Amino acid sequence: MMLPSHYTCTSCGENFEFATREARYHFNRGGDPLGSQISGAKVFHAPLRPGWCKDCATICTVEDIATIRAFEDAYGAVKAGRAVEYPAETENLTREMAMDEVGAFLRWRLERRHAPRALCCGGSNYQLLDVPQPLLKHAGCDFGVIEPRYFMSGPYNGPGPGAYGPANFPLLSEEGDLIGLLTWFDQETGLWKVTAAEYPVHDQD
Ligand SMILES: [Zn+2]
Ligand SMILES: [Zn+2]
Repeated sequence: MMLPSHYTCTSCGENFEFATREARYHFNRGGDPLGSQISGAKVFHAPLRPGWCKDCATICTVEDIATIRAFEDAYGAVKAGRAVEYPAETENLTREMAMDEVGAFLRWRLERRHAPRALCCGGSNYQLLDVPQPLLKHAGCDFGVIEPRYFMSGPYNGPGPGAYGPANFPLLSEEGDLIGLLTWFDQETGLWKVTAAEYPVHDQD
């Protein structure tokens, strides 16, 4: 699922951007505590969908967590040699690599307890925007609704994120907690450098 480039209000023209467009999971059940670097083999691309966080009053990305059945079906498909797009894009993987990737997601999904979180604050007080007619109004504007805008960008042929500059991908625990930011990726060792990060805490009103 492709995220819109941004959202625009149909009345006042205000644009709403995503603060975070990408995130990664640290699949580490029972493993070592997170240090200053982690193996890329434990890092998985988190499926995300667009939302509006009512606590932050902002456009945000939300963890896209389908039913266990959807993960089992995806695993069955890659086992049978078919490509899937969710929970991971397997088009360019061998059957074994696809089974490893989707199998890791299936094991994670079976243990996941917390509801999908919005990545702005880790909360679950959001409205999803990739549903029919979300009809969203924003503060100070009575008439507009917020609609997605899509712009295509050209193919990217660089060395991958984290090579020429810090990627700053949010790193999430299995339960969707923000546990760090992935900064630099070392191609030779396959290690990501990690800096500390956590969700901002909202005042309760
Ligand atoms: Zn507006
Ligand atoms: Zn939020």
